[in-house]
Amino acid sequence: MPAPKLSSSARVPLASASPASSKSTPSPAPSTKPKPLDMFATKEGAPSICTFDLHPRAGQAALKAAGLFKEFQKYSRPEGEAMKLIQPDDAPKEFDGEGLDRPEIDRVKLRDILLDSLEEGTVKWGKKVMRVEPDPSARANTPSFSPTSQPRRPSISSSARTSGITSIELWALDVDAKNPWLSEYIGKGSCFMFDEGRALQCQRQGTGACGIDFANPSETTRQEMVDKYWSDCSTDVKRVILSAKDELIPRKLYMLSVGIQWKSKLGVTLLGDAAHLMTPFAGVGVNVSLADAMDLAKAILRRKASVVAKVRSDGYNIGVAVEEYEKIFERGRMNAEKTRKNLGLHFSEKGGAEIAGRLSAHAEAMAKGDGRH
Ligand SMILES: Cc1cc2nc3c(=O)[nH]c(=O)nc-3n(C[C@H](O)[C@H](O)[C@H](O)COP(=O)(O)OP(=O)(O)OC[C@H]3O[C@@H](n4cnc5c(N)ncnc54)[C@H](O)[C@@H]3O)c2cc1C
Repeated sequence: MPAPKLSSSARVPLASASPASSKSTPSPAPSTKPKPLDMFATKEGAPSICTFDLHPRAGQAALKAAGLFKEFQKYSRPEGEAMKLIQPDDAPKEFDGEGLDRPEIDRVKLRDILLDSLEEGTVKWGKKVMRVEPDPSARANTPSFSPTSQPRRPSISSSARTSGITSIELWALDVDAKNPWLSEYIGKGSCFMFDEGRALQCQRQGTGACGIDFANPSETTRQEMVDKYWSDCSTDVKRVILSAKDELIPRKLYMLSVGIQWKSKLGVTLLGDAAHLMTPFAGVGVNVSLADAMDLAKAILRRKASVVAKVRSDGYNIGVAVEEYEKIFERGRMNAEKTRKNLGLHFSEKGGAEIAGRLSAHAEAMAKGDGRH
């Protein structure tokens, strides 16, 4: 009798201990162990300040599938869904986010929930994947999926390009104690301003910090920045930028081409940002990444459960599962397209009005029970 395939010793190496890779093998499959590698020396080395809202059908669904939803609920912040939209010189428009069901969670908390769910020692910290090559021994008994049975070449030739946007991230730590005005002004969730050629995105973190995407080389530079780009704005807007003094991190934002696809290649696939890197302007990156991870894990489990899998090699079976998973292209394209559209809108004069309209419409749809996504 042939040994059951996709065996308990099957290994799925994953580059990185990120949201996507640490959940690519869900808890119902403890026997198919992931072995994520991460180039950070320790988990504490990973960037920590950032907050994500997890959507019901993507991030939340993935955590449910992995049996981690209760843990998520312990640390998520439904009150973080509140949003205040400000115009350069206008009164703010506030949304409480009620009914959206997109609670926020700090990146560091989400990372800990995911990493703590893995067996001790699963992640090899401080290891960097330099290249991926076929294993000659595996190739000998693993059929190729190409019609010609020729070894296939990697077919993703496209690389990330800059989106043209540089975000300048400013941190104000422990705002409640150190800067009550800023704490009050930003509120419990997000406070955004979108305008022609500029955007200000402030978000409260569960740690009591406020991150403001818009570095602190010096007070003079900060003031010069305000004078150059924000001089026509209200005193409050200028005060927000001038009072976030704890850290400065400039980030060039990169993206992959919208709708990128590749030919399935035995032994390797991509998920998360590696598959469809986009700018953060639709706030969907981590959601799409977690949904990818869930779909890949489900495809592997489905294959594992199939009768025919038992007579094929692990390599072949994983290849079948990967091809099944790679139907994600459409989801990546739709979200990247939405993000590209938002990028244009956010940096336009009507950016604030547009997002206010979208939030109102979304809240209405939710009230009618047809807006969940
Ligand atoms: C400023 C900002 C704000 C954002 N806000 C939001 C938001 O509000 N909502 C949202 O949904 N998304 C948001 N995103 C996007 C979100 O952070 C990403 O989409 C998400 O983290 C992607 O997860 P990932 O697992 O694919 O990749 P990452 O989280 O980038 O993880 C990649 C990992 O791979 C490791 N790695 C890289 N190369 C190698 C290698 N060669 N060998 C080994 N390890 C390697 C890295 O160390 C890292 O740990 C934001 C992004 C930014 C930059």
